[in-house]
Amino acid sequence: MTAVTSSAASSEPLDVLIVGGGPVGASAAALLQVASKDARRPLRVAVLEPNRPAAAAPDAPLDARVSAVSRASERILTAIGAWPLIPTSRTQPYERMRVWHESVPPRSADVLEFDAAYAGEPNLGYIVENRLVQTAALQAFESAGGRIISGGLSRLRVRDHDVELETSAGVFTCRLVVGADGARSAVRESIGLSAETSSYHQIAIVANVRTELPHERTAWQRFLRTGTLAFLPLADGCSSIVWSIDDAAAAPLLGMSQTAFEEELLSRSDGVLGAVKLRTERLSFPLRKLTAHRFTAHRCALIGDAAHVVHPLAGQGVNLGLLDAAALCELVCAASRLREDPGAQSVLRRYERWRKSEIEPIALAIDGFNRYLAHGAGPLSRLAQRGLALVNRTDEVKRFFITRALGLDGELPKLARQPPSARPQPPT
Ligand SMILES: Cc1cc2nc3c(=O)[nH]c(=O)nc-3n(C[C@H](O)[C@H](O)[C@H](O)COP(=O)(O)OP(=O)(O)OC[C@H]3O[C@@H](n4cnc5c(N)ncnc54)[C@H](O)[C@@H]3O)c2cc1C
Repeated sequence: MTAVTSSAASSEPLDVLIVGGGPVGASAAALLQVASKDARRPLRVAVLEPNRPAAAAPDAPLDARVSAVSRASERILTAIGAWPLIPTSRTQPYERMRVWHESVPPRSADVLEFDAAYAGEPNLGYIVENRLVQTAALQAFESAGGRIISGGLSRLRVRDHDVELETSAGVFTCRLVVGADGARSAVRESIGLSAETSSYHQIAIVANVRTELPHERTAWQRFLRTGTLAFLPLADGCSSIVWSIDDAAAAPLLGMSQTAFEEELLSRSDGVLGAVKLRTERLSFPLRKLTAHRFTAHRCALIGDAAHVVHPLAGQGVNLGLLDAAALCELVCAASRLREDPGAQSVLRRYERWRKSEIEPIALAIDGFNRYLAHGAGPLSRLAQRGLALVNRTDEVKRFFITRALGLDGELPKLARQPPSARPQPPT
């Protein structure tokens, strides 16, 4: 199959149609395509995406939308051939995290420090522009012979043996539809999967900044009583700030002058990186929590933000989504090797049990951090703040958090378990 960007309707039924070519959907598509490429009967996979971003020019300034990408995600992106497409000059490995509550000084013994060296790792992960992960995964998918359909989903009809999708690029049928179309998933809506949603009543303010002191390849995060302020290290020596703050306090911060905002950043970071200068405009994202009650329905599966949205304070959204993608691919490819239907109920049930049992405790823990560390002054909050200092002094607990930051705990898909050099070829 050759690479095609299509705007015409497909005559041939597909095995899998992935709705949404964001970082998670694009990676899921590439995983399926790469894994089945040399099989006697490769899976016919397509991605439906209305807004494919252009690749960034190599010397363009770094985007303000970045993510902390874990070791598990690095392995998945390597397996599909996307990681080598992301220029190293634009990715920043981070070697440690320093996390502290506003009630303690930023460089005291009460600051919780996770160092990669502690776990014998070169780093804890990488700070990468979202756009680069997405464009690299789409490019890897196309290079493996995958097909990107330029369009959006309008309607979806699930039948016994297939799913019919009406899109702005025509009508398509497939045996499995994967909803990777983000938090406002049209797939989730169309198939009537309900979700528990609530607002955090917070806004995340995101921008790139230059700091007076070097970032030391460290992700810094201060828990304030009104939210969290993080400085993520960037490849150009600058940092990306993610300031999650209660709605009422966010509006004045977004409206104030650049100089006043920079002074706020200096004060709210307790001067940990010295004076701060804005390098980009301030972007804002209302923060919501979402968990779909079911991740699957007849011939349909949800992955990434379409299935679950967590608070950004733990930098987990893309990472959890890539694990969904790898888990689903592993099960679909195993079924396909046995000539089973990729949309079979047995495949979807196993996927749902697997990923729901992984996601739910993580979402609960992230909520707890937000509720008791980033907010509140009651006894539980005081206990949580003291807990930070205790974790710092307990090797076993610290190692647990480092493994979590690397994305290497829990029941991992095969591709996330082994470093690429030790890995056998993908299943065919
Ligand atoms: C401030 C902030 C900081 C964050 N930091 C981190 C971090 O450090 N680490 C981390 O892991 N995560 C982080 N996240 C979370 C992360 O950004 C998301 O989890 C991630 O973008 C989800 O990817 P996705 O592909 O599932 O969805 P999306 O990125 O939302 O992509 C969905 C895709 O579907 C397409 N689409 C939508 N509707 C349709 C339709 N009808 N038909 C076809 N296609 C459609 C869209 O065009 C889009 O390309 C952060 C989030 C925020 C808000």
